[in-house]
Amino acid sequence: MECWQSLVDDDFVQQIRGFAAARITPLADDIDRRDYYPVDIVKALATEGYNSLTLDPAYGGGGRSYTLAAALFEEVAYASPAVAISLITILQAQKILDLFANQRLKELYLPRFRQGLLSSYALTEANHGSDIRSLDTKAERHGGEWLIKGEKSFITSGSAAELFIILAETPIGVSVFAVPREAAGVSTYEGDNSHTFGLRNGPHVNLVLDDLRLPAEHLVGEEGAGVRQAVTTLDYSRTMAAAISTGIARAAFDGALEYAAKRQAFDRTVLDFQGIQWYFAEALSEIDAARLAVFDAARALDEERDIARYSSQAKLLASRVASSAASLAVQVCGAHGVTEQAPFGRYLRDAKAYEIAGGSSEILKNTIAKHLVRLVRRANLP
Ligand SMILES: Cc1cc2nc3c(=O)[nH]c(=O)nc-3n(C[C@H](O)[C@H](O)[C@H](O)COP(=O)(O)OP(=O)(O)OC[C@H]3O[C@@H](n4cnc5c(N)ncnc54)[C@H](O)[C@@H]3O)c2cc1C
Repeated sequence: MECWQSLVDDDFVQQIRGFAAARITPLADDIDRRDYYPVDIVKALATEGYNSLTLDPAYGGGGRSYTLAAALFEEVAYASPAVAISLITILQAQKILDLFANQRLKELYLPRFRQGLLSSYALTEANHGSDIRSLDTKAERHGGEWLIKGEKSFITSGSAAELFIILAETPIGVSVFAVPREAAGVSTYEGDNSHTFGLRNGPHVNLVLDDLRLPAEHLVGEEGAGVRQAVTTLDYSRTMAAAISTGIARAAFDGALEYAAKRQAFDRTVLDFQGIQWYFAEALSEIDAARLAVFDAARALDEERDIARYSSQAKLLASRVASSAASLAVQVCGAHGVTEQAPFGRYLRDAKAYEIAGGSSEILKNTIAKHLVRLVRRANLP
């Protein structure tokens, strides 16, 4: 049974569905239970060109569209959101380097993604989550080097990352740096917060920068422009996070529908009850609407228009729809839905975590509202 039409090139979608079903789905529960970074799968995805799908061909990338990337993230998340978020942190590093880094830094790192370079995107600190306008991680220029000291927390993919994109505050403002894992002074550890209940692709480690010395050219973009650069990059990854949420929603829906079609109660299947059919009818409509919003946001990325608005709308809607679809799935599966061997608890945990990670729903509403207010002011309405 197939509810979910391809919204982009069907051959591409079928190809990634095949890969995901064969290589990713069988490991999804194990990755979640044991909370490890799926290195082999992510490296295999790199070999297929999926990790650098949208990257400029000049750096070995596929040069493909963000609409195609949205399909990739949705299909991988359908199989395992943990694998999909591993690709998100790779996309974030690629994108910020591609948009803002100097040529030497681009040439140093961007071609390595095609070879499977693993990366993390480290903004959050113990005292700074949604608000990254000032930070406790400090960077100072000493001649030809940056001296950096501080600690980052909740770092997705940080247990395996070979490159960290970090935010640190210099005397003139928040700035972005590219930090290779092997640099002296760089270490990670599992803190009290590292094991989340959802989106588990290995512990979301703390990253310690202990008198790290970086060559001057490892500053990404303009000193002091870090917040703008980081948020622009988030507009790209938020659209893909929204695609992950629709992947979770679809997986929960399909699993529950299959169960309800077989499970007998009162001499019929659970799916024969109209009350249950209505749940599915609502969920199907909501998931379809969220998918369209995601692909619309991906098109906005391709066309470089209003990306903050559309990525925020897509993530706000899709993450909420995923939580409600996962909750419905648990409900219609009854006690089976609550068991540990069924995947529905995982869907619920992953879906809820994505209402917070990568920009909470409240912050997304602030962004959308800011856009609206700007429109009103521009129209000179009272
Ligand atoms: C699974 C997971 C993975 C993560 N991965 C990473 C990662 O790879 N890299 C990284 O840097 N960080 C990561 N994070 C951290 C994540 O980005 C932050 O959790 C998120 O930005 C929110 O920050 P906070 O948790 O400190 O919440 P806070 O900022 O303390 O906010 C608490 C609550 O207040 C609300 N709030 C805050 N400000 C406002 C406002 N202005 N208006 C209305 N409401 C507001 C928030 O929405 C939230 O509900 C991850 C988090 C999770 C859960």
